[in-house]
Formats: sequence, structure tokens, C-alpha cells
Amino acid sequence: MSDCIFCKIAKGEVNTRLLYRDDKVVAFNDTNPQAPTHILVIPIDHYDSVKEMDDELLIGRLFTVAKEVAGKVGLKHYRLVINTGIGAGQSVFHTHLHVLGGRLMSWPPG
Ligand code: AMP
Repeated sequence: MSDCIFCKIAKGEVNTRLLYRDDKVVAFNDTNPQAPTHILVIPIDHYDSVKEMDDELLIGRLFTVAKEVAGKVGLKHYRLVINTGIGAGQSVFHTHLHVLGGRLMSWPPG
């Protein structure tokens, strides 16, 4: 989608340092981190949310990359989050998996 910021990041159209890239997925730091480490893992192809995704390999790939990136940056404990829909706190409508770590987490989330 031409007006989607995460599509632009995935295609290299904006200056964002990528922590990971393959032919399906990229990862980069969140600009408004909610933890000392806050990384976003996204599919390169546009899906408004995980609800629109039916490619199980791609959904699995997001989690595999999240694990790999978390390990690469040295996180031993982390939280993986996919906000889905406005009511769940989604604000960017291109599927993304949050990798949050580096502090103690409470439960339930807000
Ligand atoms: P969500 O609220 O689950 O949709 O998460 C969207 C996340 O994207 C938020 O944590 C934002 O801080 C983050 N974000 C928005 N724009 C950018 C950007 N250009 N680069 C990196 N992170 C971004």
C-alpha cells in the first residue's frame, strides 16, 4: 500500500535501520519503545492485521524471526505481542509482531 509506513520501511523507501531482512520479513526498532528493547517484526507484503493472513508459513516465520532477533540482541525473557484491531491497541494497520524485553513485565497488560 502506497501510504503505509511499514510498507515503505519494508521496501527501503524510508531511512530505517533494519535489524533483520529476508525475502518475506523485516525487523527494526520501534520509534516509541515501551521497553528497553522494543523491536517490530513485519511481513514485507501488506496485511492490515493478522486477521487478513492465512499463510501459515508466513505467520510462523514472523515468530521464528522474532525468536532469532530476540536471541541476537541478547534477550533471555521477552514478550511477543500482536495487537489486532483498534480495540486491542493496533495503531499501524500493517501486521507487526512486537518483541518487548529488558524489563520486568506485569500481567494482565493494559
Ligand atoms: P500498534 O499500536 O500495535 O499498531 O503498534 C504500532 C507501533 O509502531 C507503535 O509501537 C509505534 O511506536 C510504532 N511505529 C509507528 N511508526 C513507526 C516507524 N516509522 N518506525 C518504527 N516504529 C514505528
